Amino acid sequence: MNRKDQFASHLEFFAELGIDGINSDPEWRVRPADLGGQRMAGRTLEQIRTELGECTRCKLHRERTNLVFGTGNSDANLMFVGEAPGRDEDRQGIPFVGRAGQLLTNIIEAIGQQRDSVYIANVIKCRPPKNRNPEPEEVDTCEPFLFSQIDSVKPRVIVALGSFAFRTLLSDNKTPISKARGRVYDFRGAKLLPTFHPAYLLRNPSAKRDVWTDMKLVRSLLSGN
Ligand code: URA
Repeated sequence: MNRKDQFASHLEFFAELGIDGINSDPEWRVRPADLGGQRMAGRTLEQIRTELGECTRCKLHRERTNLVFGTGNSDANLMFVGEAPGRDEDRQGIPFVGRAGQLLTNIIEAIGQQRDSVYIANVIKCRPPKNRNPEPEEVDTCEPFLFSQIDSVKPRVIVALGSFAFRTLLSDNKTPISKARGRVYDFRGAKLLPTFHPAYLLRNPSAKRDVWTDMKLVRSLLSGN
């Protein structure tokens, strides 16, 4: 069957369903993927995970072992957003479980929280091969799911871990993380604080002092100050 015949048979099928025309209104041209954020509005984390399914929306699915959705308290006041799963996360299907993850757990506990009392997710849900930087198309595909996770959890404070998370969330391609950290941004009803990524801290331990300053600000925002 050629494309014209296929199209004709589609129209016949629609006609059998009682559909007698095609709407030319521009808003009907929005494709389902573009509606991701709207369709997922007000959903529970479980529903968002179901919507994501065994995702094949971008090429990252080809090399992943596990999709890494997010973990923690679905009602958390505090949420951490990282970049993308690494090797350990890809193996276990859980964010921040490698060395950087252990450091993140220590940071969380240092402000009197527990790993399972906060919510942890990444901008990208599948590991980029060889931990390369995620590509814009991969970010565009995955981002609506992160936004839905944020809208579902409704944290009071979000910590963006590293420049990739900060720049993606705030659509800021200019401000370096070293300038952004220490500031408080408004984002989707929460206060967003950028800080250095734990993997950066493993390479630059002297930056832990700045992260501790940022975390004290997080703690005071959570306690309502
Ligand atoms: N780095 C990230 O940004 N996210 C993880 O889950 C692990 C390492």
